[in-house]
Amino acid sequence: MLKENYDMVAEKVRAACERSGRNPEEVTIIAVSKTKPLEDVVELSRHGVTDFGENKVQELCSKYEAIENPVRWHLIGHLQTNKVKYIVDKVALIHSVDSLKLAKQISKEAVKKQVTVPVLIQVNVAEEETKFGLESTDEVMELVQETAKLPNISIQGLMTIAPFVDDPEDNRKYFRQLKQLFIDIDKKNFDNVTMKILSMGMTNDYEVAVEEGATMVRVGTGIFGARNYNI
Ligand SMILES: *Cc1c(COP(=O)(O)O)cnc(C)c1O
Repeated sequence: MLKENYDMVAEKVRAACERSGRNPEEVTIIAVSKTKPLEDVVELSRHGVTDFGENKVQELCSKYEAIENPVRWHLIGHLQTNKVKYIVDKVALIHSVDSLKLAKQISKEAVKKQVTVPVLIQVNVAEEETKFGLESTDEVMELVQETAKLPNISIQGLMTIAPFVDDPEDNRKYFRQLKQLFIDIDKKNFDNVTMKILSMGMTNDYEVAVEEGATMVRVGTGIFGARNYNI
């Protein structure tokens, strides 16, 4: 069942690429396994799925320790500085860098563990008060420049969480805005900054996000089914 769901998402990504003249190989589907059992991850990984997303450090670490197949773990949720040390050598990508304080901590722990950590800067395009992420272009530019000076941390792109809306078309303007910012930063040619990953789109709106240039979509419910937070 999980594999069928995953394949359906992959098919929709492929169709969205076709509609927008893109190569489907440019888009990575991250299976967001938060709250779901390890067995689900194992099952999908046996079918060749390689990229999984978690939003809690503890859950990421316990799945990381338990799984034998090599998979790439993505930390997609808000990261507290005191938890950075647990994951710097376990994650393929941190999607949610939204402050210089956090970037400095990642850099510090990465130096200690002698790894380089790829990160995305999280932008709050919709300027929703409840969400994390930077709101203005100036703030993003400044964080990008300051983070780029730090050792053992490498900025690879931008991430956003669009609002939950009934009609995914309502989020197209935000995806377009993030893509434009991505292009603007790329043009500045900052040292130690590459704009190659645009992480946007979730179950509700990933097709629109792909049409607007997403290179990573983070899909949970659409692959694993609804989450139950009460267990
Ligand atoms: C939970 C989560 C997702 C996946 O959400 P779905 O709507 O279930 O696809 C994607 N991104 C982030 C940051 C999340 O926390």
